[in-house]
Amino acid sequence: MALDDLFDQLDRSRGDCLDRLFTLLRQPSVSAQNLGVRECAGLLAGMLEEAGMDAAIMETEGQPVVYAERIFSPEAYTVLFYGHYDVQPPEPLELWQSAPFSPEVRNGKIFGRGAADNKGQLLAHVLAVRTWLQTRGALPLNVKMVFEGEEESSSPHLDAFVARNRELLKSDLVYTSDGPLHETGAPLVVLGVRGILYIELTAVGAAWDNHSGNKGGIVPNPAWMLVDLLRTMRDRQGRVCIEGFAEGVDPPDAATVELIRRLPFDRQKIRAAVGYEGFDLDAETYYRKLMLEPTFNIAGFTSGYGGEGSKTIIPSKAVLKVDFRLVGGQDPEDIFRKVCRHVQMHAPQIQVTFLGAMRPSRTRPGLPAIDRVIAAVRQAYGVEPMVQPSLGGSLPDYVWTRTLGVPSVLVPYANADESNHAPNENLDLEKFYTGIKCSLCVLDRLSRGQAPAGQARPAGSA
Ligand SMILES: [Zn+2]
Repeated sequence: MALDDLFDQLDRSRGDCLDRLFTLLRQPSVSAQNLGVRECAGLLAGMLEEAGMDAAIMETEGQPVVYAERIFSPEAYTVLFYGHYDVQPPEPLELWQSAPFSPEVRNGKIFGRGAADNKGQLLAHVLAVRTWLQTRGALPLNVKMVFEGEEESSSPHLDAFVARNRELLKSDLVYTSDGPLHETGAPLVVLGVRGILYIELTAVGAAWDNHSGNKGGIVPNPAWMLVDLLRTMRDRQGRVCIEGFAEGVDPPDAATVELIRRLPFDRQKIRAAVGYEGFDLDAETYYRKLMLEPTFNIAGFTSGYGGEGSKTIIPSKAVLKVDFRLVGGQDPEDIFRKVCRHVQMHAPQIQVTFLGAMRPSRTRPGLPAIDRVIAAVRQAYGVEPMVQPSLGGSLPDYVWTRTLGVPSVLVPYANADESNHAPNENLDLEKFYTGIKCSLCVLDRLSRGQAPAGQARPAGSA
């Protein structure tokens, strides 16, 4: 079905849409500083009601979740949009060209903290629903929205919220718009994220630093304890030797390999982007290592004297910071237990501390819902989207795919130079409207999808 009536209505209401974004941007909502977050939740709930949805502010142990829904029919296809209304702290203020909470448009860009991350992107979904209801009176499918207020503080209560509200949040697909389009301007469809486990290993020798000559050879060196331990954890080929570490890491299926073969690759650009002239991977290995394989990374190693000149000591303490990026069926808590067991076996005097974790998440390519999202993105942007099996980084996507048990897709709407988390955060005005258009196309395409197994299709769907 042609969507011209919806696009025309969107064109007519561009000013209105921008007004709403400005209203949301004027309200600070810095979760790290507990600044204005609850006020922003109230404002957003009001906008959802105004758009034609039933909205509620739902409490968590931290900042509230703004939940909204518009049910077309209990049997109809249900899409759940996820976003976050909290923002990063705006500091350093002196680097902003206009005040972070006084949004303005300059050179075709909306400047303000949260413009791209994530108020402009989550509002695109709300405004798509508003546009649809203004034009056609009823939605063609069920829409639910979950906007959290703690994403910029690592979503500490989202998983428990989803677990508590499984019935309410029941849906067929979770759709998230956050982050930037590809640097070439091409739209992206991302099907997962890598997980992470962050730990600290601490080795202690004598009670204080000792003279490396006068006491040399008679007190243990904790830096060597960590080096010796590390040698048991990884071989010279880079294979991780922690027993059971690779369990759940399956070789990628043919469809996933096909996806990464279609992604663009420019070795020279990557060299420049990472500042490493020695980078010489081929395209497929690059994407496999970045998206489909786990890592074991030494993020920091602190011991003894690191200052100018020499200081002859045997350090009393050594600390190692390690992050593992996880994929497939790897579970950070399980990996943590395996690391503890390994350390217990090889160097029981070394202390292992858990610092943080997020599970990996993947949605299969080739699902009909994913094909429909890809078609919607193609229609909205007029170009073929790049489909990435995973981000290299980590997001709490597992709350949807594992806790709720629903496929999840990430479609960013912001420009690549959005300066999120930095001064002068911005969203291209045209990208904002294209985002609303894209959400309209997504509503349309998903409503034409098959109802879940055993359920009837909604009336009027083809
Ligand atoms: Zn962010």
